[in-house]
Amino acid sequence: MPSRSSFFATQRLRWAAARRELLTAGDAARQVLRAHPKRVAVAVGFALMSSGIAAYAIAPGTPDPALSPRVTLSIALQTDAAAQAQALDDQPVVLYRTTQTSRGDTVQSMLKRLGVTDPVTLRQLSRDGQIRSLVGADAGTDISAEVDSTGHLRKLQGHVAVRAAALQGGGAGGEPEWKQLTLTSSGVGWSKSFTPLALRTQTRIAAGEVRGTLGSAARSAGMPGSVTNQLARIFADRINIQRDLRRGDRFAVVYEMITVDGRPVRAGRVLAAEIVNRGNPLQALWFAPRGDAKLGAYYTPQGNSLNRVFLASPLPYGKVTSPFGMRFDPVVKRTQLHEGVDFQAAIGTPVRSVADGRVIKAGQETGYGNVVKIGHPGGFETVYAHLSSIEVRPGQQVTAGQRIAKSGNTGWSTGPHLHFEFHVRGKVVNPLKMAQYVPPSHALPAGERASFMAATAVLSTQLAQASGSPARLASAAPTTQAD
Ligand SMILES: [Zn+2]
Repeated sequence: MPSRSSFFATQRLRWAAARRELLTAGDAARQVLRAHPKRVAVAVGFALMSSGIAAYAIAPGTPDPALSPRVTLSIALQTDAAAQAQALDDQPVVLYRTTQTSRGDTVQSMLKRLGVTDPVTLRQLSRDGQIRSLVGADAGTDISAEVDSTGHLRKLQGHVAVRAAALQGGGAGGEPEWKQLTLTSSGVGWSKSFTPLALRTQTRIAAGEVRGTLGSAARSAGMPGSVTNQLARIFADRINIQRDLRRGDRFAVVYEMITVDGRPVRAGRVLAAEIVNRGNPLQALWFAPRGDAKLGAYYTPQGNSLNRVFLASPLPYGKVTSPFGMRFDPVVKRTQLHEGVDFQAAIGTPVRSVADGRVIKAGQETGYGNVVKIGHPGGFETVYAHLSSIEVRPGQQVTAGQRIAKSGNTGWSTGPHLHFEFHVRGKVVNPLKMAQYVPPSHALPAGERASFMAATAVLSTQLAQASGSPARLASAAPTTQAD
């Protein structure tokens, strides 16, 4: 049997000669078709192969651009037809094919599409979990194969997500690593190798207008489910995007897409987002001070943290019965400043600290009755009064939302309620304005303003473009599968 390279070199000369006789060779071709129907089919398949094999077929000589595989092979059969077919009979022809997985694919359907007909291979590989994961992954994954002329698989390649734990035989968990799986026939069995694939990050934009649900608007904008979930968390302190977004509200998002070989595998971080809820825009820009992702957070374009430090209220459903400000005090019987707000609360209602802090006072005080005072970083203090019972002690650290007491009717109180005060550096402030106050720990770090502006300028521009023309960008945004 001639070596493959000399075989092809010879073929090339023959095929080149054959081109000159193109128009007279029809009868010969028909004759060959009768004598060698199977080989002709293989040769036609060969002729239809990809550009990858074109380079291989012409090697090792200088590639002749006039000799595309398609033209060359069809002419060869028409001239020196019998010898040609005999040569093909002697030579194990390997077909290189690539296919894309589709929904509902099985290992068998995928392999058959690649030209594998050997029943043993089809049976063996259908039982192989890693090969199954090739077709079990998202539809549209490229799989390439080398199959010989008898339908035997030589080699198979595709991308698989391998979880570290799975490789060690453990359970699922952790970020998968993307690898190229290469399955090679050793004649008696199969050998597998895994080559790591580099993940790349692309930036994508999605925008849309809510017509039905946010979810359906997000899907039609090609926005992955995990991006919608991130939006919900980013704006959680300002708006419940699943519940509060209405028909006509708009959204625009700049986010990362992690790709392997140009194919999206999952969405990454939201870099910028805007939601316009009943005409009110809410914006979020991701910024990592000093380039440290661990310090990263979402900020408004002005550089304020998007995350509230103070809860809206120390009670889950507190209705304000007496606001902050000047009022006639029914107890002292004169007009004076009401230094807090009164929330309606049945005796025994759990009271929560509105922010992280340290208990300054937990006990009795004239007028207040049972009272808890908590100091918060940045010169803030909150006061919870007329309590029926206290569940913290002075000096104790508390966290936002931690239960500290039960509401009551102690001290100068005309009925069960919670009196709540908010102090900023020693001055009483309307507690209903508490959310506007940002302790230094949640503001942009000192000296980071210039780099914040530089880093977020592009994001702001992208966001403005996206939100300026939602329909166009929504349709232009690359479509990806939800993850
Ligand atoms: Zn009060």
